[in-house]
Amino acid sequence: MKDRYQGIDFFRIIAAAMVVGIHTFPFSSISPKLDELITLTVFRVAVPFFFMTTGYFLMGKLSFQQSYLNRKRVQSFLIKILKLYVIAILLFLPLSFYTGTISTRTSLVKGVSAFFFEGTFYHLWYFPAVIIGVLLVTYLLRVMSFSGVMMISFLLYLIGLGGDSWYGWLKGIEFVSLFYTNLFKVFPLTRNGLFFTPLYLCLGIYLYRKGKTKNIKEIPFFLVISLMLTLIESYLLHTYTEIKHDSMYFFLPFVMLFLYQLLLRWQPKIKWKTKEELPLLIYVIHPLVIVVIHTISSRILFLKISLIYYLLVLCGSWLLSVFYLHLKGKKKEISPVPFRAEKKILKEDVSHNVSEIKKIIPRKTKIIGVVKANGYGCDLVGFSQLLLKEGIDFLAVATIDEAIKLRKAGIASDILILGYTDPKRIEEIAFYDLIQSVISEEHGRLLNIRKMAIRCHLQLDTGMHRLGMQPELGAVVGMYQLPYLKIEGIYSHLGSADLLDEFSVNRTKRQIESYQAVLKGLKDLGIDYGVTHIQSSYGILNYPELNFDYVRAGIILYGFLSDSIQEPKQKIELKPVLEVKAKLISKRYVKANEYVGYGTNYQLKKETLIGVVSIGYADGLPRSLSNQGLVLMCQDKRMTQIGNICMDMLLVDLSQAEDVPLNSEVMILSSDNIEQIVTDEGTLTNELLSRLGERLTTDIKN
Ligand SMILES: *Cc1c(COP(=O)(O)O)cnc(C)c1O
Repeated sequence: MKDRYQGIDFFRIIAAAMVVGIHTFPFSSISPKLDELITLTVFRVAVPFFFMTTGYFLMGKLSFQQSYLNRKRVQSFLIKILKLYVIAILLFLPLSFYTGTISTRTSLVKGVSAFFFEGTFYHLWYFPAVIIGVLLVTYLLRVMSFSGVMMISFLLYLIGLGGDSWYGWLKGIEFVSLFYTNLFKVFPLTRNGLFFTPLYLCLGIYLYRKGKTKNIKEIPFFLVISLMLTLIESYLLHTYTEIKHDSMYFFLPFVMLFLYQLLLRWQPKIKWKTKEELPLLIYVIHPLVIVVIHTISSRILFLKISLIYYLLVLCGSWLLSVFYLHLKGKKKEISPVPFRAEKKILKEDVSHNVSEIKKIIPRKTKIIGVVKANGYGCDLVGFSQLLLKEGIDFLAVATIDEAIKLRKAGIASDILILGYTDPKRIEEIAFYDLIQSVISEEHGRLLNIRKMAIRCHLQLDTGMHRLGMQPELGAVVGMYQLPYLKIEGIYSHLGSADLLDEFSVNRTKRQIESYQAVLKGLKDLGIDYGVTHIQSSYGILNYPELNFDYVRAGIILYGFLSDSIQEPKQKIELKPVLEVKAKLISKRYVKANEYVGYGTNYQLKKETLIGVVSIGYADGLPRSLSNQGLVLMCQDKRMTQIGNICMDMLLVDLSQAEDVPLNSEVMILSSDNIEQIVTDEGTLTNELLSRLGERLTTDIKN
């Protein structure tokens, strides 16, 4: 939204200024008629504009798919507005009492109606109107087609219109008058969430669903025509009838429809860098400023000029809002909590690795970011967000719970579950809009039997013999015929891509050939098999000539090779994204011949300064590193690990780092030692990283 819809952003400020105008009558000292036509007619586009923005950006997607994320966005929007509404009610409570909009004698019915429809102060009606409108449209979208919702909203708008600007004209008809007299007992005005908001929300949704319009040329013409019609309508109603209220006009929705399309396209030269909340804040605050300016205007003569009065209110509200946002922004800079043991993710290195990978894969091939096992120990959600920023919009995890965690954190990308999911959990696969791997023929059939459509990728066992169905054409075709499996891709996994000896290369080649044979068979049968992928990190590095739709990058995204046994064919400059740090929490001199820590395998030869560092094997540092001469760095000084590593701490010899102060940060794992450690331990970087404990805090800001 930030860059692409500058016109909308710009107009949000203009609309806020219009709303302030509606409450201050800027032209009254020139000509009241001018206020009728401009302030009470043209400026009436402001509030519908905000409703349409909510419709377009918040509910457009929801109207296509009632998925978990789309619903959650609406939910959090409603909660945010409700909170603001409550705060605004309290803020204006003294004024509400002062002006008599509420008093101790307000009846319960009136109170409830004020809360849900009118607002407890004149401008606050906007909040319940948005809330009720959004709730109503969300509900309708769930039970009927969009055109049905549109129709109902339009009918509601007509009813509202009859009780708004058209009332003076219609009330001569007896049964109409009777109808509205009763209606007004519950809703003093029809300009509310029931009659007014739904249509504009729907217009926003409508434009979202319609997508980009091609014939833009006629739109300004239609906008002018509909604006003229609205002005004529307003002029006639204001001149010849007694108007009840003037928020709603018959031709206003048409004006909005054309205006909004222009705004979506408009890219004003001036970039207005403001916080998103600013217009709403100006809206909430401006009546307070009106009270102040109004009070002093009786003393200062030139304030009686309506235009100056208006501009003062506008600037005052603006300044107050900006000041408030400034204060709020400041408060957020809380000082960081001191950590015990922490992993730091180096953002620029993630970015670097992604671009390095892009350099060596074919131009049209895209990256699936593998973030299983808590993002290889680097923080599932945080790391995924970094990948999304790098333009990687397809993630893969091992389990459904990892996938759900991503969704709950608001991540909207495609998510492929690489591992097995029990068919009993099919509802969650559908609800969270996940893509499940079909890991065997039986798995596919059991999923299908549940009669719930889900997205999936077919996994083939081309020779690794872990997961996947047999690469046998007939069986694979059978899967594509299952009605409830929406198969969007077909993939396989290589068992020996990391090694370049003859046996490994032959095994890999057979796997690739088997995969390609199935693809060819499907193509010959005219089956649209979806997207393809077979390479993980070493597949990318050792078989760069392959050309499929995606590659599944895991360990190299994190800046590591799995081990240093064999140099891959394709050189690539990787930067490790992870550092693990802890603190020096205690220092003590220990006499010669004493043992340190658990057990007796480390005895001091001479009196030594010993340090305690706040990290242990429960944090993922292998206990087998105990007493192996592991060197840790602190302020460029070396400290050697001694004794057995404990669950939560380890001990170091401070002989070469005597004056390092307490609480200093000690580097435990970094690009300097990780590869050495995994070589010594005979394991993979993958294992070391993925075992980093839950107890480590994560610093991912930098
Ligand atoms: C883990 C995994 C990957 C990523 O592997 P790396 O070697 O870390 O790149 C890719 N595909 C599948 C099926 C996996 O299980």
